[in-house]
Amino acid sequence: MPKEIFPASFQCDCGHRSDFAERIVRDLRAMSQQKKVYLRDAAPEEHTIVFYRGKLLEIQCPKQTQSPETKKSPRKSTSSTKRSTTRGIPDKVKTDVAAIVQHFNTTVIRNPHCVYVPRYRGKFLYLDRQDDGRLSPICRLEYTGNMEDWSFAIYKYSDERYDEEEWFFPGEEHVDGTLEGAMKAGLEAYPA
Ligand SMILES: [Zn+2]
Repeated sequence: MPKEIFPASFQCDCGHRSDFAERIVRDLRAMSQQKKVYLRDAAPEEHTIVFYRGKLLEIQCPKQTQSPETKKSPRKSTSSTKRSTTRGIPDKVKTDVAAIVQHFNTTVIRNPHCVYVPRYRGKFLYLDRQDDGRLSPICRLEYTGNMEDWSFAIYKYSDERYDEEEWFFPGEEHVDGTLEGAMKAGLEAYPA
């Protein structure tokens, strides 16, 4: 069994120890109340600490050969099942999204040279931001059937992809399932 070492270290069965800042571990525990959150250490043998409901759930060890079931996070497989049964985002939702984004642009950002621009693919809503004419990816939201409960993924420039497990970036505390929360988070993660 993986061990927790007070206050912010974790020891894998293989003997590897991951140390983190207390603040980060505290924040992730708080965020893990409703969903699994993942914390990767920066060591060359990369271990991922998984929290759920405020507790250490498991440590994913690069040395242990994992079965395909455990390798894939359960969260991903449920969303891929959902994905196949849900087709795209309804037009009514897109109309509401356009209004919310425009409202945010004009009342929160209040800079005509910096605006969020929505685009769609399947059940994903991509929020790009146009800063002085340059359009940049910021985040991706997955429609779950509820305007207040979008799944959030930040765009990671280092990997050139959207990462729904990256819960460690400036502004993350704004992510609350709403479009406004996502756009606020995007403004802090990637200041205009
Ligand atoms: Zn290990």
